[in-house]
Amino acid sequence: MPSPLIEFQNVSFTYGGEEGEPVPAVRELSFAVPRGEFVAVLGHNGSGKSTAAKLCNGLLLPTEGKVLVDGLDTADEAQLFDIRRRVGIVFQNPDNQIIAAIIEDDVAFGPENLNVPPAEIRTRVDEALKAVGMFEHRLAEPHKLSGGQKQRVAIAGILAMRNDAIVFDEATAMLDPRGRREVMDAVLRLNREQGITVLFITHFMEEAVLADRVLVMDEGRLLLDGTPQAVFAQQNALRAAGLELPIPALFAQKLRAHFPALPEDILTEEDCARAIFRLFAQKGGNAQ
Ligand code: ADP
Ligand code: MG
Repeated sequence: MPSPLIEFQNVSFTYGGEEGEPVPAVRELSFAVPRGEFVAVLGHNGSGKSTAAKLCNGLLLPTEGKVLVDGLDTADEAQLFDIRRRVGIVFQNPDNQIIAAIIEDDVAFGPENLNVPPAEIRTRVDEALKAVGMFEHRLAEPHKLSGGQKQRVAIAGILAMRNDAIVFDEATAMLDPRGRREVMDAVLRLNREQGITVLFITHFMEEAVLADRVLVMDEGRLLLDGTPQAVFAQQNALRAAGLELPIPALFAQKLRAHFPALPEDILTEEDCARAIFRLFAQKGGNAQ
């Protein structure tokens, strides 16, 4: 059995200590993300998601428990270089993540720091920009880009380092709907076509339903862990954690009052449209 790419073993993390009151942010958190998986993480504000994200590549170290990246312990300083080469993080604010004056220089920054030879950097930068659909903007100045474009450049910067996994900490939260879709499409493609492992923290349910698996955090703990269908079936637990169902699921609930045969596991617009079509087709109605 290969080791999971990211593994939390009974991890707790507490902020502060000496002066301020200690703030327990993550409590006894255990989960494993196998290579290639797309995992969404949900949880209300303050549930410990960003803390967990920073624990993934050693930006924070557990107060208790262990975080392993490809079997390497993030608490072992000698491994930190290899850990960061495997797991990169895209943060929320697109404006804080680009430092160079030209897009392609920004994407080159990571591999330059890894002492990758210049010809190889050129190849990697071009490939990474193509993978996120930003190649034609390679000579653009960052301030001329939309938020969604900037986040895709940030993703390219990680791809150029050939990381195995990317953690997204609400990377779509500050984007307009179009930017959110651009980023989500790019991330799904990287996961499916290049096998990049994804941990996608979001508060948009319509993004979480596209994942292979959903984790729900509450008060620093793991409340739910399962497929989108299994997690969104736990309505009471979700509501207790301050989360809503995806809009198509709410819509399907209302429709079910009129059409009791409508299935219970509708999560996306496509699920909803297909179920309604099937209902009419079965009834021999004029569905078209
Ligand atoms: P989320 O990303 O789910 O909103 P966070 O991981 O940011 O949650 O925060 C979890 C808890 O830790 C919250 O109670 C928050 O106030 C606290 N916290 C976060 N960052 C710090 C910090 N730098 N210092 C002290 N407490 C913090
Ligand atoms: Mg956060």
